Amino acid sequence: MFKIGCHLSSSKGYVHMVEETLSIGGTTFQFFTRNPRGGAAKPVDTDDIGRYNKTASENGIREIIAHAPYTMNPCAATENLREFSLNTMTDDLARLSLTPGALYNFHPGSHVGQGADAAIELIAGLLDKLLEADAGNTTPVLLETMAGKGSEVGSKFEELRRIIDLVADSSRLGVCLDTCHVYDAGYDIVNDLDGVLGEFDRVIGIGRLKAVHLNDSKNPFCSHKDRHEKIGQGSIGIDAFAKIINHPALRDLPFCLETPHEDISGYAGEIALLKSLRNE
Ligand code: FE
Ligand code: FE
Ligand code: ZN
Repeated sequence: MFKIGCHLSSSKGYVHMVEETLSIGGTTFQFFTRNPRGGAAKPVDTDDIGRYNKTASENGIREIIAHAPYTMNPCAATENLREFSLNTMTDDLARLSLTPGALYNFHPGSHVGQGADAAIELIAGLLDKLLEADAGNTTPVLLETMAGKGSEVGSKFEELRRIIDLVADSSRLGVCLDTCHVYDAGYDIVNDLDGVLGEFDRVIGIGRLKAVHLNDSKNPFCSHKDRHEKIGQGSIGIDAFAKIINHPALRDLPFCLETPHEDISGYAGEIALLKSLRNE
């Protein structure tokens, strides 16, 4: 089955996200676990979650992506900022244990002052604490590939590999590949998708790849900008997306759109377009 969907607002709960997903022809979705600009998450609505687990499985929605707030910085130079990230992620994972099929995606962060090597150690240290505290939870934790804007960690496959290697029990760790980010970071998925995925396999191991963010890019190859564009309207282009969604190493993963649209009808069009390009 083609697992395709888009980023949705979680403000009306899980069941509402399923309804929206079905209304646009989707089979998966993504949402922020809490206000991405920070703050507390809403109280757990066990009724909504109970109904969600039933309707999701009835409608073939098996994997969804919960995205951590992008403003937190797991490798911040100051300890209390890192502790904020750890507490946020711990709370998010406790909630996600209630929704089997969720993948938890986060941005590794930016090294401000302390340098990339120290940042990689800080991220691994945070993950050690997170995974240890939450042993028994099986929710996969995914590092997102980044564009390399500013001092972002994770724009090189090697950096993600080093984080994974430093974590004591990395069995729950995976990677979410963002097409805009990797193209902006200098991985040429337009002219050499096989080469990029081969490199991913050599450096990280293709088995770690658990999800794909489908975004075109407003900027040229290797620009390190991270500005998403609608599918087929940016520098990546529609032919590359046709190859991505059909590639044997990717085609069974959940694909999630994070393209700029005013409302979800724009996603309905993109999902229909991608379905028309999918070889079943
Ligand atoms: Fe992201
Ligand atoms: Fe993304
Ligand atoms: Zn992005």
